[in-house]
Amino acid sequence: MAELVLGFAEALEVVLSQARATGGARVSENVGLLDAAARVLAEKVVADRDQPPFDRATRDGFAVRSEDVGGALRVVGSVRAGQQWSGTALGVGEAIEIMTGAPMPLGADSVVMVEHVLVEGDVLHVEAGRTLRVGENVVPRGAEARVGDGLLPAGRVIGAAEIAVAASCGCAELSVFARPKVAIIATGDELVELGEKQTSGAKAPLSIRPMRPEAEASGYPEASAACDPTHDDKAVVNGLPRTEQIYNSNSYALAALVRAEGGVAARLAVARDSFAELTERVQRGMAADLLLLSGGVSKGKYDLVEEVLAELGAEFFFTGAMIQPGRPVVFGRLPTFEPQRPWVYFFGLPGNPVSVQVCFHLFVAPMLRALAGRSEIAPVFVEARLAEDVRGGAKVTRFLPAELSGAWDGVSVKVVGWQGSGDVAANARGNGYVVLPAGVESFAKGETVRVLLR
Ligand code: AMP
Ligand code: MG
Repeated sequence: MAELVLGFAEALEVVLSQARATGGARVSENVGLLDAAARVLAEKVVADRDQPPFDRATRDGFAVRSEDVGGALRVVGSVRAGQQWSGTALGVGEAIEIMTGAPMPLGADSVVMVEHVLVEGDVLHVEAGRTLRVGENVVPRGAEARVGDGLLPAGRVIGAAEIAVAASCGCAELSVFARPKVAIIATGDELVELGEKQTSGAKAPLSIRPMRPEAEASGYPEASAACDPTHDDKAVVNGLPRTEQIYNSNSYALAALVRAEGGVAARLAVARDSFAELTERVQRGMAADLLLLSGGVSKGKYDLVEEVLAELGAEFFFTGAMIQPGRPVVFGRLPTFEPQRPWVYFFGLPGNPVSVQVCFHLFVAPMLRALAGRSEIAPVFVEARLAEDVRGGAKVTRFLPAELSGAWDGVSVKVVGWQGSGDVAANARGNGYVVLPAGVESFAKGETVRVLLR
């Protein structure tokens, strides 16, 4: 198969443009306001009336005519939040006691703060020398929003700030987009599921099943338990997997990432490195809105994912990106032959657990955000100063697990020591990834670098 390896920026641009071309989410539902948290708004929220709905006092004090401040004033009444002044309009030299959040009485144009006055009976003395602007300590009706103004656009993720806006417009329910469904397929003969009992009777995942169709035809056994000297399928190792086996961590990491981006994850059973099993699994996964595969996209003899996808008619947008970790990442789409949704997008992610996560943040998340109906989809990078010197010189853009510390006196970032893209523990010691552009020999302490947030 022809290789199509893109630079990082180019690969990201391809994903972003494909993601935007999907047209986003289509199905929506109404949910209660709090259940809308972390969902994506499907319809804009508009002001149901002017905000504030009346000229609102923003301080406790006395409503006055600003031009009267200077002489003594006569207090003629009091108004508190939730009340409307029902007396006559404020006359010359008059003041009305007012509380924060109360509507301004007619005739008053400002509020003098209670901290700035002295009251003797019904006589109000404003601090000597203090003047008031017209409108001081008052937010006029409609200053924040006019009835019908759009306050939240569709496509916005709903957090506390958005919930506050919706509640302030009286929305007990919100229309949100349906969550996209994401099928997750981990591939690899070495994988064991969590909780799977590894007993003497356990079936060896290394099988004598031929790996490729042509091998199937020839009957040539590519690997067998019998010819593996380290293999002993009679071994019971305290319920632990056999030494050569690896827990399937990627499916779980991906499912957690999918959830965090507002998707619904379906973890399919692990697919062994066999053409037939991979084909069956991919076909099953195509029922989802997005298909994620892990493993099997490198150049090894048993890396069959691309072949399987190609056989199913895939269109590939790239089959590699000049990044590390994650260089073999594959992005494309499969034809479904269903008029309603002619394509299903897929990512073939390299099996190494850190590669999986980096590729998710860089490429999968934008696509998933688009499918979730979000309008902001691009990965977020921030700038920080390097806490230590870092060696560069790679031919690819590197994303090193790093710890970003957001101290008050300056944001700095420190690369976490790691053993490479299989080192999940080191990855978890960081909270983001320092971006080292290709071709730069070294990066000095104090230098500003980009950091990919996660
Ligand atoms: P592959 O991309 O299939 O060549 O796998 C690269 C490395 O990632 C190998 O060391 C695999 O054992 C490991 N790996 C692949 N899939 C998973 C998975 N689902 N969970 C944890 N490690 C994996
Ligand atoms: Mg593999």
